[in-house]
Amino acid sequence: MLLSACGGSSPSPAPSASPAASPVATPTASSSDDEFRIGRPQQRREIGDVDRAFRTFESTRGELIDLFKAQEWFQDGLSRDEALFVERSLSFVTRYGGPRKDYVSDETVRRKLIRYARVPVADGEVELLLIFQSGQAADMEMEYLKATLPALESLVGVQFPERVITVINGDFEINDFNDGQFIRIARCCTLSASILAHELSHAYWSIGKSWFNEGMADIYSVLVQQRLSDDPPAAWRVSAPDLDAYLRSRRSAASRFPELPLPRRFASNGLYEAADVFLLEIRALIGDGAFKAAARDLYLASDFNRFNVSDKRIEDVFLVHADAGAREGVMALFNRYIWGDNGERYRQLQEWDEP
Ligand SMILES: [Zn+2]
Repeated sequence: MLLSACGGSSPSPAPSASPAASPVATPTASSSDDEFRIGRPQQRREIGDVDRAFRTFESTRGELIDLFKAQEWFQDGLSRDEALFVERSLSFVTRYGGPRKDYVSDETVRRKLIRYARVPVADGEVELLLIFQSGQAADMEMEYLKATLPALESLVGVQFPERVITVINGDFEINDFNDGQFIRIARCCTLSASILAHELSHAYWSIGKSWFNEGMADIYSVLVQQRLSDDPPAAWRVSAPDLDAYLRSRRSAASRFPELPLPRRFASNGLYEAADVFLLEIRALIGDGAFKAAARDLYLASDFNRFNVSDKRIEDVFLVHADAGAREGVMALFNRYIWGDNGERYRQLQEWDEP
């Protein structure tokens, strides 16, 4: 059985701000990163810095540090992929807590079970590190990830937001994407085209509430699979429905759940299915080109994930891209799926925005 991508995630409320002062976007925790790089991807200088990682984690992760230091491959000096392996593993197990050996096993460390590639993107390259467990088809998984990354970048139309992506195959309950840095893939799913593409899509789509992030990751996963289906990576067969067929199948899946506004849904009440339907109904109204242009504008509004975009901002941007004949329909969809009213809430938020 495939676990749902990012299964079990809960609706994440945007940081609260007083409505009167509500900006179009709200700072996230990562905004402290580098204020001089507005309009550019965030920098994460700690990545691959082994000395710094040893200093930071020596009191809490001494056991894993000692295990790394005991390996022959460690003692003869560290290449870039090995440095990333060491630093990323320490940062990962610290971030997630829990049983280290379920994530980065002794065997993975001893046999150095990693794959590494520099993937060309529009502006330079992205370092891709895969940390895996014995018995997994790491080369095949890596081929798919390497193909997905530039496909995704060209579909969104904005330079890839991260310089380093680390994928960890472990004994996880779920698959997920964590703050631009780590993708966790459960044992079930290391060769799932849809799940791998969904999780990589969160490199872009982590800028709003859960309904938006998950719906967009689902849709861009389908788009990536379509793009790769013509010229699939080695050993892969990739096929995907077109988005109209995908919408029909998601409508039928969503109909099994009671009606509930998206911001109040969890995975268990059809968050993913209903979010896909909502966003694809908008696409059906405004057209494919306008949908992708709105998605790109929303991503840029987040300034490379330095800010969260609010539900109101999302409606604003889709309305900008809707022609006159589609506006009423888009507003009706937002009222039904987001606000749960007849437009009162959106009008109120618009009034608060006025100076
Ligand atoms: Zn997800």
